[in-house]
Amino acid sequence: MQLEDLFHFLQAGVTPFHAAAEAARLLDAAGYTRLEESAYWNLEAGRGYYVTRNNSAVIAWRIPAHAIGGWRITASHSDSPAWRIKNTSVAAAGCTKLNVEGYGGMNMATWLDRPLSVAGRVLVRGADGTLAARLVDLDRDLAVIPSLAPHMDRGVNDGHRYNPQVDMQPLYGPEGCRPLPALLAEALGVAEADMVDWDLTLYVRQAPAVIGPAGEYFMAPRIDDLECAATTLYAFLAAAPQADTACAPVWAMLDNEEVGSGTRQGAHSLFLRDVLGRIYDAVPHSAQGMQRALANSFVLSADNAHAMHPNFADKADAANPVRMGGGIVLKVNASQKYTTSGLSGAVLREVCRLAGVPVQLFANRADLPGGSTLGNLQSQSLPVPMADIGLAQLAMHSAVETASTADAAAMVKAVEMFYRVHLRCLGDGQYTLEPAP
Ligand code: ZN
Repeated sequence: MQLEDLFHFLQAGVTPFHAAAEAARLLDAAGYTRLEESAYWNLEAGRGYYVTRNNSAVIAWRIPAHAIGGWRITASHSDSPAWRIKNTSVAAAGCTKLNVEGYGGMNMATWLDRPLSVAGRVLVRGADGTLAARLVDLDRDLAVIPSLAPHMDRGVNDGHRYNPQVDMQPLYGPEGCRPLPALLAEALGVAEADMVDWDLTLYVRQAPAVIGPAGEYFMAPRIDDLECAATTLYAFLAAAPQADTACAPVWAMLDNEEVGSGTRQGAHSLFLRDVLGRIYDAVPHSAQGMQRALANSFVLSADNAHAMHPNFADKADAANPVRMGGGIVLKVNASQKYTTSGLSGAVLREVCRLAGVPVQLFANRADLPGGSTLGNLQSQSLPVPMADIGLAQLAMHSAVETASTADAAAMVKAVEMFYRVHLRCLGDGQYTLEPAP
């Protein structure tokens, strides 16, 4: 995977629907067969498949040549904090505004005063009585959330308190301007009357930009978590055909992590568990085989991590300074917000040692609770040994985030090794681990 491939994925994935479509495009190009959850699955040994749920979550896998002794899984998320469009227009002060509500815990101020566009999914009625989801991306600078000048808010630099209902409603155009549904219908080539419903959000259209004296960093929207989604997908595509012969490689990108994963397409659902069960049913298996396969499986929950901020070094654990460009970040938390244990952390460290990729440890300060991610929610329906990893970044949940241009390659290398290594669970607390021949 080249840096341009990552940038392309970041730019294509303007909503979870678009991230899923981009993943599907890459899987199609690599010869994977798309399946529907509502259909019977006829799975053949040695072939690759994928399935989507809600058009916004994707699970891909390859069937090994012989029986399945377990799964080697990576899981990331397709969603980022954004503004969901409730109504397409509201009149105010001679202007037309869109009416939005927040999705996820964003840094609100970072959405002010930058060109925004609209994308998502529209449900279109067909002449034959069908109702089909169509992705739409207006892909042009279209709206702005204008800030209030300091002349009218003298306290704006002294800790302004942002109210999403007041501060964050976007200006769309002058009163009487062409309404948003007309633009959507035009982009889709359908009649406005045939657009039955939609899921639309504002997004930041800014292209990824490389910065730093030698291009050490890059800035882009949605780095959390499309950087992990893209790198794990490229590693999966490269490694899956030569994966550990007894283990089925699985790549998962789930939705709704930013709002707690508690949806049917989120990590706190049975989506992954259901897919593994259907894969298992499709291959020859023995009694108690499913439980043995799960015990022999391993999940990497891949979601980005905070780098130590140069202006706020005291917000991080001084003994564990995570830096951009420092390789894979292994996350640990005593309260089990991260799934990493001494055992799963040791497996991850050995995988990275074999791959020649450095590992840095992320832990919160003992007096700060920190964030959470999808791994520990996923583990409630899939009790498989798991470790939480990510890549270091700054300004997480800002409209535009910053990360290292070097780390993506490190992630691909480590995850390729994760899919290929011969990892066997000999008993509780015991593994053998050998690189692929
Ligand atoms: Zn994330």
